[in-house]
Amino acid sequence: MTSALDAQRPTTLDLGSARALSCRECGHQIPLAAEFACAECFGPLEVSYEFGKITRADIEAGPKSIWRYRGLLPVPADVDTHPNTEPGMTRLVKADRLGAALGIKNLWVKDDTGNPTHSFKDRVVAVALAAARQLGFSVLACPSTGNLANAVAAAAARAGWDSVVLIPSSLERAKILTTAVYDGALIAVDGNYDDVNRLATELAAEHEDWAFVNVNVRPYYAEGSKTLGYEVAEQLGWRLPGQVVIPVASGSQLTKVDKAFREFGELGLVEATPYRIFGAQATGCSPVSTAYKAGSDVIRPVKPDTIARSLAIGAPADGPYVLDSVRRTNGAVEDVTDEEVVEGIRLLARTEGIFAETAGGVTVATAKKLVENGKLDPDAETVLLITGDGLKTLDAVEDKIGPLATVPPSAAAVREALSRR
Ligand SMILES: *Cc1c(COP(=O)(O)O)cnc(C)c1O
Ligand SMILES: [Zn+2]
Repeated sequence: MTSALDAQRPTTLDLGSARALSCRECGHQIPLAAEFACAECFGPLEVSYEFGKITRADIEAGPKSIWRYRGLLPVPADVDTHPNTEPGMTRLVKADRLGAALGIKNLWVKDDTGNPTHSFKDRVVAVALAAARQLGFSVLACPSTGNLANAVAAAAARAGWDSVVLIPSSLERAKILTTAVYDGALIAVDGNYDDVNRLATELAAEHEDWAFVNVNVRPYYAEGSKTLGYEVAEQLGWRLPGQVVIPVASGSQLTKVDKAFREFGELGLVEATPYRIFGAQATGCSPVSTAYKAGSDVIRPVKPDTIARSLAIGAPADGPYVLDSVRRTNGAVEDVTDEEVVEGIRLLARTEGIFAETAGGVTVATAKKLVENGKLDPDAETVLLITGDGLKTLDAVEDKIGPLATVPPSAAAVREALSRR
């Protein structure tokens, strides 16, 4: 298989151990290129590899970033010497106080707020940029629900590339400003994310030198999410957790964490112990949860209406594959109201000192609901993926929290305020 494809590859194209793009639906393979849909059946294309021998020691000797897993990603071997952002190796926190509140005995929080632009999107963008450089692009672009806008604009700035970022005009103010500051082209579109995504697909066809990270280079971009799974397994001491709860927007991240756990097992880096994958959505945009609960394979698109804007994708591209992962691993998909999302944010903050964005509130609140309805096993080791920072979604909490009191500079006034608590 690889020799024929290798012969067609330009000699300068170095994407590590990646060998081809394979259709997830029909298995048709094409050489590595900036393609995202199968020419035979329009199914999504995914990177396939021929991994060499990779040991724990190789990985442990690598940089303290996602590039320690470069041998498992579609990037050149010297990727860590390119100008790039260096996301990853964020902390995995033992969350005993949150665990006690949720009734989960052995709970961990993977805190991805610690990435360069404070969300897990820095992982996928770093991989997309590295691949886009190999594929001959010179502009980094995306349609975004917010965090991707930050990550693309920042990574492009650091690499000295121009960027074109399309967002729904209703996005949180903080996410607009924290993208605009990097000084690429930021375009606010009057429409929801699904409109913006359609627009991006149209523009990608017109501009051959624009790498839309989640459109025309999506197969490479998506692989970046595997690093979340790799890190969790490595940080647990080279083993897989029993259960993991993952927020779902397009569904890419969830399916790639599943892929990461499987690859680690197949490569002998961990024992291939069983694990269960759970998806988390906001009720106001829950097409995958709705299909899961109906026992259906068909994802019916919805019009999003939720404060969890980073997850507000009404027509999730990887929705069917989320259902596959969840059903294969005996997990579930659940959804929570906006009120529960805010309670989830506050519970995580109060118990663990971690301020997550609305997507994190979705994950925490969904875990709570899954324990209550008996789907999550309270005795199994569980990891919650907290994928973005609360400083970017202050609007979600600003009318619910604030100072206990505003007082004159007098000790008596402070004592009085505290006594009323
Ligand atoms: C984009 C995003 C997700 C989900 O990503 P998908 O791979 O599209 O499902 C989760 N959390 C945050 C904070 C995000 O920005
Ligand atoms: Zn196909």
